[in-house]
Amino acid sequence: MNFSDFEPVIGLEVHAELKTATKIFCACPTAFGAPPNTLCCPVCLGLPGALPTLNRRAVELAVRAGLALNCEIATLSRTDRKQYFYPDLPKAYQISQDPYPLCFDGGLSVGNGERERYVGITRIHIEEDAGKLIHTRNQTLIDCNRCGVPLIEIVTAPELHSAEDAGDFLRALRQILVTCGVSDCKMQEGSLRCDVNISLRKKGSNEFGTRVEIKNINSFAFVEKAIAYEARRQFDILAKGGDLQAETRRYNASTGKTELMRAKERAEDYRYLAEPDLPALSLSREDINAIAKALPELPRAKAARLTRAYGIVKADAEIIVSDPSLASYFEYAATYTEHPILLTGLLLTELLRYCHSDPFDPPVKAERIAEIATMLGEGTVNSTTAKKLVTRLVDGDFDPRATVETEGLAQIRDRETIMRTVNETLCENQKAVADYKNGKTAALRALQGHAMAKTKGLADPVLLEEIFKEVLSE
Ligand SMILES: [Zn+2]
Repeated sequence: MNFSDFEPVIGLEVHAELKTATKIFCACPTAFGAPPNTLCCPVCLGLPGALPTLNRRAVELAVRAGLALNCEIATLSRTDRKQYFYPDLPKAYQISQDPYPLCFDGGLSVGNGERERYVGITRIHIEEDAGKLIHTRNQTLIDCNRCGVPLIEIVTAPELHSAEDAGDFLRALRQILVTCGVSDCKMQEGSLRCDVNISLRKKGSNEFGTRVEIKNINSFAFVEKAIAYEARRQFDILAKGGDLQAETRRYNASTGKTELMRAKERAEDYRYLAEPDLPALSLSREDINAIAKALPELPRAKAARLTRAYGIVKADAEIIVSDPSLASYFEYAATYTEHPILLTGLLLTELLRYCHSDPFDPPVKAERIAEIATMLGEGTVNSTTAKKLVTRLVDGDFDPRATVETEGLAQIRDRETIMRTVNETLCENQKAVADYKNGKTAALRALQGHAMAKTKGLADPVLLEEIFKEVLSE
């Protein structure tokens, strides 16, 4: 039995917190990081007699996600009680949706080039989040602030077959949810979490093996590692003639392994029943169309448009659209310059080195970086100076064109000046000249470096190289 004869069959269940100001069934705020148990009321604590009221905004955002992910939207759906007794859920049931979800039968294109393919989304339903348990050395505490925070659960078809597939899907999904303002998808704050269902089968087979669920993974890298580990673990059991158990496991980031949590619950364990305290959820076609009209341009379409409109390469366009704030910064800056390709270069290779915030928080005014791209494009400065100007702007704002003038940073493009520098350099570096003439072409680089230093980095590098070659071939 060879590992390479098997393929994992993977389906994901992604929970995304919706970007609403208040909880899904009450008016408590959804703010992250408040002191424990300060954002709660009888409804989200599940006190007897408290009644839920569905948050309209949560439904709108869930429909927005459904439309952006090519789903059908149900004009009639309903909420259900999912019963389970767990300490982070004071109500002892969660309001979710079982047989009639809000969105169904969607999918999205993920990956690029040869890896590009369409992954089906079976359903998207709304539900409430549970509280958070805080384990200390000798006690467990509960924080109910997260009880009742609105979530969507996005369930994919079992159509992913590797850790990379899952990573591609999650990245594409995250971009769409962020772009549409559905969720901020901050994994470090738990606003995007992923459960992985994985089984193994012989390549070419259509059957499904025994499925294991890995719960609540909170980073894309961990999802990929958990899948790689789990596929191998399942193979090792099968290879020894063993049987796999349907079970729920967790990923331990410090060991890189998955660990058994419990035997898998079956649907009947949850004793689903239609939520008696909420009416059926009814949406008109007009409601749905209004939400569809307000959808922003989606990442793939935007990347294609940027490629066409600005002549930038697809890979760069994809980086730019991966963060909507970065994309709007780029497009705004591009209105100030006729050199969008140079602008892209300065943005992606220089400016992004100084930005580690998510979403992108520009440390330099868009007009400034556009002005530098223009000066680079018209030859006023060379690329070394352009890069230095970007770095200096990160420390504090100034007018780059005026600074180039007052500090004499303009590119030297005068043939005579450069010729003089070249001749001086050749006189002072006889050994490098001899090396070059003996076929060591690398010596030219060194000579160019010396000459560039003599001009304080201001020479036109193309012209400099041209003149060097001219003189040396004489
Ligand atoms: Zn509340």
